[in-house]
This record gives sequence, C-alpha cells and structure tokens, in this order.
Amino acid sequence: MKINVAKAAGFCFGVKRALKIALDTAHSGAKVEMLGDIVHNEDVVKEISDAGVRKINRLGRGTNKTLLIRAHGSSIEIYERAAKLGYTIVDATCPMVKEIHKIVKALKREGCDVIIIGDRIHDEVRGIMGQLNGEAVVIDDVKKIPLAKIKNIKKAGVVVQSTQNLERTTAIVEFLKGHISEVKFYDTICKPTRMKQKEIRNMPLKNDIMIVIGSKKSANTKRLYQISNSLNKRSYWVQSKDEIKPEWFQDARSVGVMSGASTPDYTTKDIIEYLQAI
Ligand code: SF4
Repeated sequence: MKINVAKAAGFCFGVKRALKIALDTAHSGAKVEMLGDIVHNEDVVKEISDAGVRKINRLGRGTNKTLLIRAHGSSIEIYERAAKLGYTIVDATCPMVKEIHKIVKALKREGCDVIIIGDRIHDEVRGIMGQLNGEAVVIDDVKKIPLAKIKNIKKAGVVVQSTQNLERTTAIVEFLKGHISEVKFYDTICKPTRMKQKEIRNMPLKNDIMIVIGSKKSANTKRLYQISNSLNKRSYWVQSKDEIKPEWFQDARSVGVMSGASTPDYTTKDIIEYLQAI
C-alpha cells in the first residue's frame, strides 16, 4: 500500500509562530496567561500548559502577568481591558489575521457595511468583529443568508475567515453580488489553507483511502475532512493512531494522508509509521 502524504500537511506558519512565541515567553520566566486554547488541538494545548502557560476564561488582575494573544487574534476591547488591568501584552496573532483586521477597519472607514464569511462562534471571526465593535454581518452558509439585512446594504465590504472553504465562499459572494449594488470582495483565505484545500481536492481522487488527521475541535480539519469525504467515501478523520482500524485498508493500494493546520508533526509521523506497519 502506497502512502502519499500531502505536502501541506500539518502546522501552518501562523500556528508555528504562535507556539514559538508562547514557549519563548513562558521560558523567559514570565507568568503567561491566555484566553482560551492556543490552537484547537489537545496535544499542543498540553505542551503549552506543561511549559507553564495558563489558560484563563476571563481577564483578572494583570500586574506582573503577560497576556498572550493567540494566532486567531482578539478584539480591540480585550487589548484595551488587558492593558488597563496591568497585563503586559504579547501578541501572537497571525500576520494574515492582522491583515484581515486592517482590511475591515479600512472598509468601515470607507463607509462599507462589513460582511464576514465565516463561523460566527470561531475566535478568529469574533476577533474580526471585535475590530468593528461587533458591527458586521456574519454568513457561514449560502442557504442561511439573512436576506432582510442584506437587502438594506448599498455598499458591502466582504472578507473571509482565513480557513474557509473556497467553493462555499465563492457561492456566497456570487449571491451577495446579485443582491447588493456594490460589493468589494477581499479573498482573505490564507495561503496555507489554500495549499491544503488544493491538495485535498485532488488526493481523494487519486488514493483509495484518505486519512485526515486533527482534533475533533479543529474547524480547519473538519473542512478538510468534509471536502475529502465528498470526493471519496473511504475518508476517515482521526485524532491519533488508536482510532485507525486495520480493516479500513482492505484491498487498498494507496492511502492519502492530510493533517490540519493545528495538528503537530509528531502526531502525523506517528500515524504514518502505523500505516507503514499495516
Ligand atoms: S490558518 Fe492561516 S491565518 Fe490561521 S494561523 Fe494558520 S496561517 Fe495564520
């Protein structure tokens, strides 16, 4: 059985960068706190916690503490509140997410109504909304577009959560163009996501089986799996080698392996070794 590993498998550069910043800051002796998990992956969360970074649910007294802003970014309000509470802020927001923040603020200054294509409960989308005081319309599905709101918009500025599916995004943008007279669209899907999506549209057609690796909490892994499964029903989404069943591979001549942007390389390597053993 041939094992074909995606070139774009694993950590994206934004996650690698955020992890390095988190670990460097913790090792410098700072008392580091973080609102929520650094990425949606249990192994990485444990690594960070073992290094001494504390996950918190709300800001507390910040004196002698460092607040680490995660790769997904944060609202302006969090930066302001943290500074007032005395935190030192270390910002690990991915530069590509920062770019989205800049775009939406510019769109608002130009008088556009901002529309974000993405998952409204995802931290990245919350962070983008938090640049605009929450004044944005969020759309995650072409079938759930709030028509009443859309019809009143004359000039829209549209951005996309960095890990969204390109095809779904295109369908939503086309719909918006049909209902709003002026639509300025910024395709802000990031390069690592694009590369992953390009491969995941191809690999399931060329391999008998697809293994997509990543946490069940990871939205980008979920999307990779959904695309893979739509193209090849023998697609499996696993978090670790323990979930893999040897019988999946009966008569298989090839298996494609892809992992999400928050999946560490050691998990992928572990699974590849297991597949080699099968
Ligand atoms: S998925 Fe893209 S935007 Fe998000 S952290 Fe990775 S590189 Fe940055």
